[in-house]
Amino acid sequence: MSKTPSQAFIALGSNLENPISQIQQAFDELKQLPGTRLISHSSLYKSAPVGRLDQPDFINAVALIETHLAPHELLNALLAIEHRHGRVRESLNAPRTLDLDILLYDALQYHDAGLTLPHPRMWQRAFVLRPLIEIAPDCHIPGHGHIASLLTACNEQKLEQIKA
Ligand code: AMP
Repeated sequence: MSKTPSQAFIALGSNLENPISQIQQAFDELKQLPGTRLISHSSLYKSAPVGRLDQPDFINAVALIETHLAPHELLNALLAIEHRHGRVRESLNAPRTLDLDILLYDALQYHDAGLTLPHPRMWQRAFVLRPLIEIAPDCHIPGHGHIASLLTACNEQKLEQIKA
C-alpha cells in the first residue's frame, strides 16, 4: 500500500450495556481495521439524549484514523463493528449499544443514499464538536466553517467530560 492514506474522524456513541467499555472496545476494533491506524482519540464525554428523552445518557468520543479504506468500505467496516456490538436499528434516536459515524473523510463533500460527508448533523451537536476540538483544534468542516465558532453556537448543550 504505497498511496498516501486518508484521514477520517469517527464519532462513537453508546448508551446501553456498559457504554464506557463499548467505546473503549471500539477504539481497539478501529485499530484492527484493514489498512488502518488509530492516530488519536478524545476523552469520553457524557451527554443527555437528543430527540427521544426517555433513555439513558450517552457516552461519546471521537477518534482520528488514517486509512486506506475508501469511504464506503470504511462505512461498511463500521457497520460490521456496530453489528458485532449487538446494535439493533430500532428507530431514529433510539438507545444503542454502539453507534459509529464517519464525521469527516479528508475534506470530501459527498452525498448518496447511504453516505453523506461531512456527517449531516455533526456541525450542530456539542457531543460531536467538543470531543472533536480536543483532538483537532483547527478543524474546518467543509460547508460549515471552523469548529470553534460552530461549538460556540451550541454552548447551551450540556456535556460532561469523564475523567480517566
Ligand atoms: P445511524 O446509525 O442511525 O447513525 O444511521 C446509520 C446510517 O446512516 C448508515 O446505515 C448509513 O447508511 C447512513 N449514513 C449516512 N452518512 C453517514 C456517515 N457519514 N456516517 C455513518 N453513517 C452514515
